[in-house]
Amino acid sequence: MTDTQSRQQITILGSTGSIGVNTLKVVAANPEDYEVFALSARSQVDVLFQQCMEFRPRLAVMVDAAAARELSNKLQAEGSNTRVMSGTAALQEIAAHESCDIVMAAIVGGAGLLSSLAAARAGKRILLANKEALVMAGDLFMQAVAEGGALLLPIDSEHNAIFQCLPIDSRGRFADTPEQGVEKIVLTASGGPFLGKSPDQLKQVTPAQACAHPNWAMGRKISVDSATLMNKALEFIEASILFSLPASRIEVLIHPESIVHSMVYYSDGSVLAQLGNPDMCTPIAYGLAWPQRIDSGVAALDLQGIGRLNFADVDKTCFPGLELGKQAAQNRGTAPVILNAANEAAVAAFLAGTLSFNEIPVIIGDTLNRLEVRSVSDIEEVLEADSEARKLAEKLINSRNS
Ligand code: NAD
Ligand code: MG
Repeated sequence: MTDTQSRQQITILGSTGSIGVNTLKVVAANPEDYEVFALSARSQVDVLFQQCMEFRPRLAVMVDAAAARELSNKLQAEGSNTRVMSGTAALQEIAAHESCDIVMAAIVGGAGLLSSLAAARAGKRILLANKEALVMAGDLFMQAVAEGGALLLPIDSEHNAIFQCLPIDSRGRFADTPEQGVEKIVLTASGGPFLGKSPDQLKQVTPAQACAHPNWAMGRKISVDSATLMNKALEFIEASILFSLPASRIEVLIHPESIVHSMVYYSDGSVLAQLGNPDMCTPIAYGLAWPQRIDSGVAALDLQGIGRLNFADVDKTCFPGLELGKQAAQNRGTAPVILNAANEAAVAAFLAGTLSFNEIPVIIGDTLNRLEVRSVSDIEEVLEADSEARKLAEKLINSRNS
């Protein structure tokens, strides 16, 4: 085998985003093990062009057709061999392509559902950052992973930490038996930029303040989710699906330093936690190499320098979104789909300046109250519930403004 053939071929869905860029950093640090097969973005031509020049993928997808033409012209002018495709179906094509081994699912929001699912059905090693896909599809996603023979590795730092602390089998799965002694899992939450603020202070916050996370540099949508704690609501649902645990065995603890990424409590009094600097390159490297470990480029943890780690309960009055997530995790069916869709609509409105910060959970709660929770048996039903909830949430947002 030549050197090229022995390298793992990776597709990055959402390569121009925060997770996508970090994934390319880890790939660049391990050139003998990984090679970029395909890259994708919605419409950021310049960043994708630079990435194509540096990593020379076989394929590149720009969802936007005009952006795809522009990228193609620029690459041709440079003599590049990268073939450019456009449209959402092309995302599924690069996710399921027979020449690809690993798929980093790093598109933000429900827009990543079908391509993440395509990777599951095609039996890939899936590095799942796109938590919204799992929240929406729930057990259908896990079923697709099992039927497709895929390996699902959580990239969300909390779930990656729990994956590292649970007794996971050689196929990446956790079977909850009494002998394993797992009592509960605890997701840590930084509390975001507004930790300790009063509900009144939250009325006036701006998108720029909400996006200035104290510990993590992330995309705008997840930054707002972290500020409302809706990110933890989504992660609560994500954990219950990934590890097949009931809501009663999942807890959330505020930990402002973001050093302990999450923990597993065992029946003998042991608590296993995973610690590290808040840098997504660690979970990305873990997902790429599991069950081995590779260089992530992340600095060693300096606990003496940090000195003190703090933990506290969640303030439910200021951050009502988390309770909505817990309820949706319990109710399942279309409840998580509705919660996610309403949140996406509300965050978009907040970022566009047409909804105030403290109204985000109100819109989500109202949308959940007005729609009946149904069970789902296929992805079409998930997509229908998603579209219905988005429309209702947008209507509720507009009626608040008129
Ligand atoms: P981002 O906004 O920085 O990047 C999003 C990427 O998705 C971009 O490449 C963009 O071009 C692409 N994209 C956006 N809309 C699209 C669409 N409609 N169709 C196709 N592609 C589209 O987001 P991010 O912060 O990198 O987050 C990506 C995912 O990872 C999210 O689900 C987020 O919750 C999750 N995540 C992120 C972090 C983090 O540190 N950033 C941590 C944990 C989990
Ligand atoms: Mg997280």
